[in-house]
Amino acid sequence: MESSNEISLVIQNIKEAFDNAKNIIVIPHSYPDGDAIGSALGIYLTLKATNKKVSLISPNGFPDFLKCLPHCDEIILANKTKSNIDDLFNKADLIICVDFNMANRMENLENYVKQSKALKILIDHHPEPENFCDYIYQTTQASSAAELVFDVIEKTGYKKYINTEIATNIYAGIMTDTGCFSYSSSNPNTFRVASELMKYGVNADIVYDSIYNNFSFDRMRLLGLSLNEKMTYLPEYKTAYITLSAKELKNYSFKAGDTEGFVNYPLSIKGVIFSAIFIEKANNIKISFRSKGSFPVNKFAIDHFNGGGHVNAAGGESYENLNDCVNKFIALLKNYEDDLNT
Ligand code: 5GP
Ligand code: MN
Repeated sequence: MESSNEISLVIQNIKEAFDNAKNIIVIPHSYPDGDAIGSALGIYLTLKATNKKVSLISPNGFPDFLKCLPHCDEIILANKTKSNIDDLFNKADLIICVDFNMANRMENLENYVKQSKALKILIDHHPEPENFCDYIYQTTQASSAAELVFDVIEKTGYKKYINTEIATNIYAGIMTDTGCFSYSSSNPNTFRVASELMKYGVNADIVYDSIYNNFSFDRMRLLGLSLNEKMTYLPEYKTAYITLSAKELKNYSFKAGDTEGFVNYPLSIKGVIFSAIFIEKANNIKISFRSKGSFPVNKFAIDHFNGGGHVNAAGGESYENLNDCVNKFIALLKNYEDDLNT
């Protein structure tokens, strides 16, 4: 989004799309996080309150710690549901994508969306969105997709439909994507939106407690293992990283979402500005990167690990084995020694 004229035109188009739509589908990215689910539920429930037929379809499941979010039991998981997905896409006249900038992040839903004749809207805060939607409400200045979902609801005149449950979902999206309002991505509008949401009766302490103080015993022990035995510190590169093998995950009864947030811990070591976690999955290695300050982990992920994301939070993947992948990472650090030590 560029000038305020362009923004108001996009908002006008989105408002008309909301007003005219009868059958709507909302889609978060694959393996959705708190922002993806909170944003999706926020816009889904708002439009549903207007008596339109709205479905929220996720490519796949979400972590247990998000199961406290109001109405999350209404989310259709595309990888688990055979029945009515074709039917929903056939009938849809509006598709709203939230919290991703590349069509392939919808995985099994990508073709449905690309083939659909419905009008498509993207609401996102990742850089350089691909051109797979008709109207794109996007800025990297926002802390989260959820912050933008609130802005869109407000600017299109749909704020009157917000209730405590909708506000709680949007708040949870912002809270999780800002590390509880601690990252540099928070801006004055982030706090304004949080403040507005609180007025609808969001219980910030309960949302926090339900999402963060919700470890299984195994997950807590896996965190212990990660920090005690599986973390390597490379002070010459101001870098620390964690590796977890498939066997280790199995030993600790790994469930989706269990390693969420682990990558942030190395950044709590004084002096560390770059952290990574390498997780061995069935078919590949999933990698998360985090940084403090100006070191752009999204560029690092794009250039070397087929990934993307934000300046300070990105991810990627590798089809090498865990050892080779980590060795490649260590070897690469040499090329970034100056950037990491400025
Ligand atoms: P996380 O490390 O929490 O999985 O993801 C952090 C950020 O990096 C997310 O905002 C997400 O957009 C991005 N990201 C994570 N994994 C990938 C990936 O494989 N490809 C791309 N393009 N972005 C990713
Ligand atoms: Mn996000």
